[in-house]
Amino acid sequence: MNVTGIDCHILLVPEYSVAANSSAQDNLVVEVHADNGLTGIGETDTNPWVAKACIEAPGTHVMGQGLKEMLLGRDPEDVETIWWDLYNGSKMTGRRGALICAMGAIDMALWDLRAKARDVPVHRLLDDPARDFITPYASLLPDGKTIAEYGDSLLYKLTTARDLGYRAAKLEICINGPYSHNGLQEDDALGVAMVEACRKAVGPDFTLMVDVAYSWPDRETALRVIQQLAPLDIFFLETPLDIDDLEGHAWLQERSPIPLAAGEWQNTHFEFEDLALRGKLDILQPDIGRVGGFTPAMKVRDLAARTNRLIVPHCWKTGIGIAASAHFAAVSPMCPYIEFLPANLSESALRQELTHDEIRLEDGVIPLPRQPGLGVELNRTALERYKVG
Ligand SMILES: [Mg+2]
Repeated sequence: MNVTGIDCHILLVPEYSVAANSSAQDNLVVEVHADNGLTGIGETDTNPWVAKACIEAPGTHVMGQGLKEMLLGRDPEDVETIWWDLYNGSKMTGRRGALICAMGAIDMALWDLRAKARDVPVHRLLDDPARDFITPYASLLPDGKTIAEYGDSLLYKLTTARDLGYRAAKLEICINGPYSHNGLQEDDALGVAMVEACRKAVGPDFTLMVDVAYSWPDRETALRVIQQLAPLDIFFLETPLDIDDLEGHAWLQERSPIPLAAGEWQNTHFEFEDLALRGKLDILQPDIGRVGGFTPAMKVRDLAARTNRLIVPHCWKTGIGIAASAHFAAVSPMCPYIEFLPANLSESALRQELTHDEIRLEDGVIPLPRQPGLGVELNRTALERYKVG
């Protein structure tokens, strides 16, 4: 089997808002074609125009080669060697950032191709199963232009998720700091009150996580608010500080009564080593596309196993990335949950329409995927509808 071509689709919902916190409004989807007639698919969570350019730009010297040029003619069976060849051959442009995200979409598609060629689900090629089912948590970003609308939307989404059978949910409390939703800048006390109302609504037997999207300006502020949240039984607190403040994370993790989680932005397993060993974080959150694909994600799994940490993968895209998270979780014993954006609780038409997939909730959990490859098919009508490049 040899790669004969790669198509890169830039997708965007027409009503996208630059003020929204949600990255599910756009997407880069790749289709990698092989000479046996099979096609693998992948996606990544970064600016799709930039990622497409990372793939299609021609190379000009040995340290700055083009990803597409390096990929053509290769055998997907050599996926791990291909990953290192693409990484090394593009080092002067890549190593981190958008190019690694682009490599993530390619790597995802190559694993999909390999598994389809053997007629097995991707997780069977990754490792032995570590569990019988996968537990998703409903990831809930409220909508609303005012704090009152935001709080009402959050409660509505949480109780709906519970009624749909979810046993865990993450509350996106993006009400201040640099990445707040719709420009909100509110007092932290209102965020704590929002989490209190949520805990009251679902009772003590429902798992709640909180994501504050890098909102706090310093470690002391973070610790003060985290201490107020602690009595509400929060499974983890996500991205409290600027992601480059690893010393701040280490200081905070040592004192925090709630485990801290981060990693959605991290590219390559090398960045997770920094996060775990310097940042001392308890919970690592690789996004399979953004970390560079299954190949480096499995190295993050090995790091977590070696250092006794949990992994809860990030995913804020479509059925493609969710399937990738599910296959990864299937072989990862330290992965208690995957992030799951319920299609009917997401404003994104891409999340709702882009894929026909086999990942479905049954009694609050996802059975292990059984279809060949990722088990995801593109809805070509939706692909054409939202394609802008
Ligand atoms: Mg987050």
